[in-house]
Amino acid sequence: MADKHNGGEGENAELLHKLRHSAAHVMAEAVLQLYPEVKIAIGPAIDTGFYYDFDLGTDENGRPRTFSPEDLQEIERRMRQIIGGRHPFVYRQVNADEARQIFKDQPYKLELIEGLSKGAVDEYGNETDVPVVISTYRHDTFEDLCRGPHLDNTGQIPPDAFKLTTVAGAYWRGDEHNPMLQRIYGTAWRNKKDLNEYLQMLEEAKKRDHRKLGKDLEIFIFDDEVGPGLPLWLPNGSIMIEALEDLAKEMELKAGYQRVRTPHLTKEDLFLRSGHLPYYAESMYPPMELEGVRYYVKPMNCPFHHKIYASKPRSYRDLPLRLAEYGTCYRYEKSGELFGLLRVRSMQMNDAHIYCAEEQFEQEFMAVVSLYLEYFRLFDIEKYVMRFSTHHPKGLGKKYVDNERLWLKTEDMVRRAMQNGGIPFVEVSDEAAFYGPKIDVQVWSAIGKEFTLATNQVDFAQPARFDLVYTNRDGQEEIPLCIHRAPLSTHERMIGFLIEHYAGNFPIWLAPEQVRVIPITDAHNAYAESIAARLRDQGVRASADIGQERMNAKIRSAQLMKVPYMPVVGDQEAANGTISLRKRDGSRQNDLPVDQFLALAQERIAQRASAL
Ligand SMILES: [Zn+2]
Ligand SMILES: [Zn+2]
Repeated sequence: MADKHNGGEGENAELLHKLRHSAAHVMAEAVLQLYPEVKIAIGPAIDTGFYYDFDLGTDENGRPRTFSPEDLQEIERRMRQIIGGRHPFVYRQVNADEARQIFKDQPYKLELIEGLSKGAVDEYGNETDVPVVISTYRHDTFEDLCRGPHLDNTGQIPPDAFKLTTVAGAYWRGDEHNPMLQRIYGTAWRNKKDLNEYLQMLEEAKKRDHRKLGKDLEIFIFDDEVGPGLPLWLPNGSIMIEALEDLAKEMELKAGYQRVRTPHLTKEDLFLRSGHLPYYAESMYPPMELEGVRYYVKPMNCPFHHKIYASKPRSYRDLPLRLAEYGTCYRYEKSGELFGLLRVRSMQMNDAHIYCAEEQFEQEFMAVVSLYLEYFRLFDIEKYVMRFSTHHPKGLGKKYVDNERLWLKTEDMVRRAMQNGGIPFVEVSDEAAFYGPKIDVQVWSAIGKEFTLATNQVDFAQPARFDLVYTNRDGQEEIPLCIHRAPLSTHERMIGFLIEHYAGNFPIWLAPEQVRVIPITDAHNAYAESIAARLRDQGVRASADIGQERMNAKIRSAQLMKVPYMPVVGDQEAANGTISLRKRDGSRQNDLPVDQFLALAQERIAQRASAL
């Protein structure tokens, strides 16, 4: 399913890409026909469709004009007419002057042409260092600055397999100092069936949106006075966080990690040493000055762990040294990029750094990969991809630490480890971290929505910057390698993912409220409360609903909160020492002895089972 939604691989992906990019051109023509004054910006194909950015000018209050849902329908109708015209897409190369002439009324295009003519940016305004050829694609009355590729003609876009989905504000070139443009998103598929499947998935995704469910299930909130991107965890969210931390601690204890704790705040010197300053300064909160010293809140935990490594002499016998911490970090994400729990400014990271000798690398690296796989199994994640990001020689000394030999060596080590372990992966050039190759782990939720959950990085540069050494068997000093890993990502991102993945129907071990006992009438309140107390006594998160509502209302409210177990108790149950169990999935079991129910709940929790 996910494959299909992303266009899949190879030929199919290429065709979909052309189809979507062609649809973007057709949409731009339709908009220009309906709004001749519109200024057009850029319009690429994206994952499941395409978009185009438009400047409709401002209204009498100076606010950017936008498109209504009716406008989108009108644009779709116009697009179908253009598709019906079967207009060929025609490519031509032009020089900068010709391009300026063609787009003389289109200021955004003129700005792009300036970049193109200098050879600095491509037609989307992205930096590039490949030689730039200025070219256009024309169909019907519309010509766009474009490298293509495109379909042969507009008639190849299936008229019943695309839809304009939303309009969103987007700053020109992503810069908030620039004008706000109106971005129309569309989705396009090879046939109507694929489109409908995708739209259904979107519908389901909306219901599962973690921002909505997170509020309904009282997991987290944001508050204006606290600030954007800084979540407040409600009691239910805190329970989930603790359940995840317990899991991590248990797994990491078995895998030989040691836990450490480090401060949120540090002197500037530490991040100067790590090299995060000045390069990473934009993503950090500005410094505060105390007694003439500049302090930063930490954007990452690594340098602190390096300091702990360096706190005493290390020999080969101490390695691998695995230091773990759920460290809270703060990163300055632009307000426009914040998104629910998935993009935040404060985050608690399932962090660890593994310091090892080169000959230990493969085993350590694979142990980390196994940990990922173990978590995927536990969370019923069936589809995932490991993306292996490597350096590109052209970025050496700029984007990447300037040491080609070490790049090639560590990349080779990772590749070999993955191959030897039989772990499927895709290799992508030029996406590595500054100090070494990395593996990004993408996972798909139960309904096929993609999330990037975690990274696993090899670092051959930081240990040297921090003068980390160990004495090898021959009594000589060597620099260890460092593996940065966070398989459970941050609590924020993980819980955001889990909410959507499970649609809030968490496995019992993660469910904030595991059991809610429901008395049939007031007369059974005492019995209900005694059961809840007994469960709590045995470590089960249970309560009794002794409110004023009728039983059915109580059941409904427990269902809305997605409580896994709802024992109902009345005269008969009280007399027999039993409960009538209603599970969240609708199944029931009458007259279950309380002992048996307690044993069932405890077993499910201990096993971290998915089944109720
Ligand atoms: Zn184009
Ligand atoms: Zn790190």
